[in-house]
Amino acid sequence: MPDVLTLGEIMACLRADGQVKLGGTARTSIAGAEANVAIGLARLGHDVAFVGAVGPDQFGELARRTLRAEGVGVQALRTDPAPTGIVVFEQRVAGVTRVDYHRNGSAGSRLSAADVENAYAALPAPPRILHITGITPALGEGPALAVRAAVRLAKAAGARVCLDVNHRSRLWSEDVARRMLTELSAEADIIVASEDELVLATSGDAEASRVRSLLAGGASEVVVKRGAAGATAFTADGAVSHPARPVTAVDTIGAGDAFVAGYLSGTVDGLPLVERLARAVTTGAFAVAGHGDWEGLPTRAELSILDLPDGTAVR
Ligand code: ADP
Repeated sequence: MPDVLTLGEIMACLRADGQVKLGGTARTSIAGAEANVAIGLARLGHDVAFVGAVGPDQFGELARRTLRAEGVGVQALRTDPAPTGIVVFEQRVAGVTRVDYHRNGSAGSRLSAADVENAYAALPAPPRILHITGITPALGEGPALAVRAAVRLAKAAGARVCLDVNHRSRLWSEDVARRMLTELSAEADIIVASEDELVLATSGDAEASRVRSLLAGGASEVVVKRGAAGATAFTADGAVSHPARPVTAVDTIGAGDAFVAGYLSGTVDGLPLVERLARAVTTGAFAVAGHGDWEGLPTRAELSILDLPDGTAVR
């Protein structure tokens, strides 16, 4: 049985050294919030499967090979006639990254409920946790139906549902986002959000009242990410906060996904809340301390290296 099943759009990622319009060179990799989480979990030794679609092109091959190399199950990664989506990152000035998406009509945005149903049918057993984000339903009607199907099948199989709100304002209007994210939050057991995203998941005039309404609505835990200030997890028993790990931030993209991977890893391992949070802030710190969305994520053996003093040589 997979520990975690996730679904979403996996894209090619081009990271330009200089400005693209000036002909800067770019390195190819892959990107996508749910794929980042899947890789983070696989690195920590968990059994994780990814449902998605890539194009019949070299970027699709790159995505498939990378997931496979990282140990993510790709049985449910379909090849679609449409091209693989692309995201282009260019550091315009230190601390400001320009992000260009080419994902309209992409293979990933043609994900459907049938893809999810086929994936469930092919699994040896249902997953323990389904992880979804607010990005996938923003990609179009098919992906939104795919997310709904995934939630329905997860619940029917007794799996827990984790929602990372992950609001992308470029993909949909705030009104449409709020409607869908409120609906998904009501189905989720674990809700992860940035401080500014909670407002899209529920009503309430302050963080405390929003958290209360999500817990009353059925969530067992609401985890609020606070960037360099760490994170807070709220449950019916109260709130637990954890500071961020002090690291030199070189690339903050992917921190939230890394955080979720750590949190779900701790959940699968049955760790108490404070230790789940500790693992989450640790994997989040790895993401910001290294380049790339997922490349710097730790293996289980590496989790403790942030405790080592500066200048330590490791094998
Ligand atoms: P997102 O990437 O989704 O916007 P955050 O920026 O809140 O999410 O980052 C997620 C988590 O990653 C934080 O809760 C924190 O644990 C960790 N993190 C983020 N920024 C830093 C930082 N500068 N130093 C150390 N840890 C960080």
